Amino acid sequence: MFVDLRSDTVTKPTPGMLEAMWSAKVGDDVFGEDETVNALEEKAAKMFGMEAGLFCPSGTMTNQIAIKCFTQPLDELIADQTSHVYRYEGGGIAFNSAVSTRLLNGDRGRITAEMIAPEINAENVHYPRTSLVVLENTVNKGGGSCYTLEDIKPIAELCQNKGLKLHLDGARIFNALTNTGDKAGDYGKYFDGISVCLSKGLGAPVGSVLLADKATIKYARRVRKVLGGGMRQAGFLAAAGIYALDHHVERLKIDHAHARILAEQLQLCSWVKNILPADTNIVLFDTIEPAANILQKLLDKGIKANSTDTHRIRFVTHLDIHPDQVEYVVKVLSEL
Ligand SMILES: *Cc1c(COP(=O)(O)O)cnc(C)c1O
Repeated sequence: MFVDLRSDTVTKPTPGMLEAMWSAKVGDDVFGEDETVNALEEKAAKMFGMEAGLFCPSGTMTNQIAIKCFTQPLDELIADQTSHVYRYEGGGIAFNSAVSTRLLNGDRGRITAEMIAPEINAENVHYPRTSLVVLENTVNKGGGSCYTLEDIKPIAELCQNKGLKLHLDGARIFNALTNTGDKAGDYGKYFDGISVCLSKGLGAPVGSVLLADKATIKYARRVRKVLGGGMRQAGFLAAAGIYALDHHVERLKIDHAHARILAEQLQLCSWVKNILPADTNIVLFDTIEPAANILQKLLDKGIKANSTDTHRIRFVTHLDIHPDQVEYVVKVLSEL
């Protein structure tokens, strides 16, 4: 048995979640007849104070559909240079939406209204039309750094004044809420679109939900279909999502505590050069020797992790990392 710290996507459904999946009432969702999918979409929308939801196979799809909904070809979106939509979605912004990207250098991936304002293009035939801002919360490449709603308010205000849409890549939004104490229900009024992953820290096997107003979701449903994302008896998967929202949000604080314990141990390791603040469930740290060497030593001890750069390693804690495993990793790190 490996201790798998590569990602919070590696979790397997719990017995309770499997039970919920087995007993789901399903129908053909392309006909709108899967009551469990409908229930998940409604539940998630309500949680975040949004009108409607759309269940999709992945967070990449929810983000890409949102970008398609909120832009026209020849437009430009603004995002941090570390953002998942830009770096890790295969160039989908250009491919799916024919939109260019203006990248900012935020603080661990967090951008501000002051940074965004001068990057909004004036009306001029030379310039792409700026139409969308994308925020990520938590920021994956920022080591799980968080925006508070107070940070977001001025950005939302700027977007409103300038007629820009604002989308949230909330792959780990519940980790952010756990850390900041903000309420999900307060998010809706600041964003035009919110993408929420069910298959990361929440532990569902598959799926993300896109939240927006009814008109946007109606169009998003068309885009999902054209991308091949119209799923039929998807209620079996949606049931896992509902279960995750009901049972796996509260416990995220455990993952955060585990990440802090790992970060504290890393502080004591002479082979570690620098550790980013472990605010949520991600620990990013820099190594003196190449990360590949360290990863091999960890693997020899049954610990899987990934590097994000030649000298940078990422640990991610999640539902399937138990306290005894954290203790074991601490011991291995102290002896490495
Ligand atoms: C994982 C992730 C996504 C979506 O990834 P999928 O694997 O397509 O579900 C989107 N944004 C961020 C920040 C992520 O970490």
